[in-house]
Amino acid sequence: MADLKERAQALNPQLVEWRRHVHHNPEIGFDTPETEAFIVERLREMGIQDIRTGVAGHGLTAIIRGDKPGKVLGMRADIDALNMKEDTGLPFASKNDYMHACGHDAHVAMMLGAVKLIMENRKDISGTIKLIFQPSEETGDGAPAMIEAGVLEDPALDGIVGLHTGNLWKGPVEGQVGYRVGAIMASADWFYVTFTGKGGHGATPHLTVDPIAMACQAVSAMQMIVSRNTSPLSSAVVTVGTINGGTAPNIIPPTCTISGTTRTLDPETRTMVLERIKQICENVAQAMGGRVEVSFKYGPPPLMNDKGMTEKLIRAAGQVLGEDNVVEVVEPTMGGEDMAFFQEKVPGTFFFHPSGLSEGKTNPHHHPKFDVNEDVLWVGSAVLANFALTWQDEE
Ligand SMILES: [Zn+2]
Ligand SMILES: [Zn+2]
Repeated sequence: MADLKERAQALNPQLVEWRRHVHHNPEIGFDTPETEAFIVERLREMGIQDIRTGVAGHGLTAIIRGDKPGKVLGMRADIDALNMKEDTGLPFASKNDYMHACGHDAHVAMMLGAVKLIMENRKDISGTIKLIFQPSEETGDGAPAMIEAGVLEDPALDGIVGLHTGNLWKGPVEGQVGYRVGAIMASADWFYVTFTGKGGHGATPHLTVDPIAMACQAVSAMQMIVSRNTSPLSSAVVTVGTINGGTAPNIIPPTCTISGTTRTLDPETRTMVLERIKQICENVAQAMGGRVEVSFKYGPPPLMNDKGMTEKLIRAAGQVLGEDNVVEVVEPTMGGEDMAFFQEKVPGTFFFHPSGLSEGKTNPHHHPKFDVNEDVLWVGSAVLANFALTWQDEE
């Protein structure tokens, strides 16, 4: 695979150019028509004709059929930016009020690079490769919308692969990739609670039902979900991010609301945490003579990497980078990633491409000065391409 590595390295200036174009022209949510058109043009230049545009807003899929029989692999890149203003001062900085502050611009470039490498080795393709360019990852609803639009069918996927660039994980460094079997990112759900009591004068609490007291009890009791209900060997986060009630020091208001987010690394803990929040709120309200409404907004489930697919990734990455440059990510991150919706349905692997660790580029994701190290873009392209070309090979 020395050829593939050299070709990928030689392609790096092209990857930089593509990444800068996408970076300069960011679009958010499902509203990504220019990014879609840019990707379609590049795919056409590479000789790919079987393209379906307008999949869930401005997402797209494209099919590459090999000459040899085989399975169907999905390769997914997210393409959306964030609703925030850039402050990098880079010559190719955003031309509008949005910003690629999560590296999805680099994902587009690396996927296109992988496609170019795959097309250069077309005779080695077995089966079918389905490219999935997905909008609206940052809001967590792009992947479910694409699934709804049928991307996992016709042809049905047997496996899926994707990556995230940046500095989200500890362990591997630039020039390497990180893998993990099992959970690599967390579920991310949101809860909204309204406590209702009976308002009145602050001097006569006995004539009221105080929803602020209910909310305080519930927030305290929720701290026990992680400490008393979650297995010490599992992980969970319960964060209450807002609490709102009341207008004056001497008024007991009729309602008080709280909202928050939960993060977990396995489906059982996820279900338990959400159920416990509901039980705690309902029982606190009942005990204090009030009422409560609890609702959830479900985000992505935990992102679970399939063992077999991850072993194939380790092999494919090792062939191009050397085994020493394929590093286990020991600690998953509690951030969410909507790739999890795809991997809930299809065995897949999602790997980490470090690119934001070097001097001057260490700002966190979603920061107005976030940037990636363009020198290592070829690494993502090479690993994706080699995975697509070898994943069906026997050991
Ligand atoms: Zn992000
Ligand atoms: Zn991201």
